[in-house]
Amino acid sequence: MDSLLSPLYKAGLHVEVRPPSRLIVSGDLTDELRRYIRTHKAEILLALEDSNCQRCIHLRRPGAAYGYCSIRDDLPPAYGDTHPLRICPADGGASCAVVCFIRPH
Ligand code: SF4
Repeated sequence: MDSLLSPLYKAGLHVEVRPPSRLIVSGDLTDELRRYIRTHKAEILLALEDSNCQRCIHLRRPGAAYGYCSIRDDLPPAYGDTHPLRICPADGGASCAVVCFIRPH
């Protein structure tokens, strides 16, 4: 998964999925990256859906949102400066130090 997404992350792009299968990319896109995304769109969608954030207990999904982080204050707020939910990191939580996949007993 990382190798498929790494060209996008290295370019500093933010990539996320919006249901049902819309790929949202923000940042400075070159023609080469556009071609890469078009060619690998299905695999990129699958890789993002299997990201750490999507499997983390700290993810919250208000309404139809694909998901926001509920604990990392270092990430940008999802809905304005005072909102507690944060936009998930561009790497999908791959390097997140506080990712958690199971609830403590
Ligand atoms: S940023 Fe980290 S803590 Fe937040 S949802 Fe993603 S993996 Fe979980």
